[in-house]
Amino acid sequence: MIRKKKPILAIDGPAGAGKSTVAKLLAQTLGYLYIDTGAMYRAITLKSMRAGVDLTDQAAVEAIARQARLSFVPGEVGTIIMDGQDVSQAIRTPEVTRNVSAYVASYSGVRKVMVAGQRQMGAQGGVVMEGRDITSVVFPDAGIKVYLDADLEERAQRRFDELKGQGQEQPFEELLADLKQRDVEDLHRPGGALQCVADALVVNSTGLTIEQVVAAIVKAVREKEVSCQ
Ligand code: C5P
Repeated sequence: MIRKKKPILAIDGPAGAGKSTVAKLLAQTLGYLYIDTGAMYRAITLKSMRAGVDLTDQAAVEAIARQARLSFVPGEVGTIIMDGQDVSQAIRTPEVTRNVSAYVASYSGVRKVMVAGQRQMGAQGGVVMEGRDITSVVFPDAGIKVYLDADLEERAQRRFDELKGQGQEQPFEELLADLKQRDVEDLHRPGGALQCVADALVVNSTGLTIEQVVAAIVKAVREKEVSCQ
């Protein structure tokens, strides 16, 4: 039996499609490192806001992106460290969410820095990396490419339920409008726009359980990970 280098598992899809839930479970199941690239763009947004940078000032935000030291912790799924500090919670505020796609993620200089960091983190394989441009730009040759989608209404409903579970209710209509707006921004930015690449495994999770989605992807990974002679 020949054991090959562990593959890169790249997952793209719109906001609220369940990418992070699925990616976290996959990373745990496979023993891979989970890399949430949205968290990286969020962290740069947070650092810019904390530094009092004008978010419309592209050069200033790019400088922040070059200075920031970002890392993920093996075995601690969902933790992101910026400049030695755990910012996993601080990057999830509605203010960061609004600013990240409207400004920070649309800047090509920021994207260049993020993509270089992501390529370095995934170079050895054995990672589950999720975002918008992983299958198209960051790792177009990834061993497994997944496009995870779900209907807009269902994505809004999941976000609603998730927030309610955390005691932070937000009107359903507002969540729906926010997701629609982020879809427009993610689909139409000049570089790194969300797209479904031709060779991706397309999974529409509407009406599926998380377990069903994870099982379908794990099966595809196991087939790539080990070959027999
Ligand atoms: O995945 P999440 O919703 O946390 O990502 C936050 C924002 O970062 C997204 O709305 C998107 O605009 C941006 N993003 C991106 N490219 C990625 C990951 C996220 O532009 N690879």
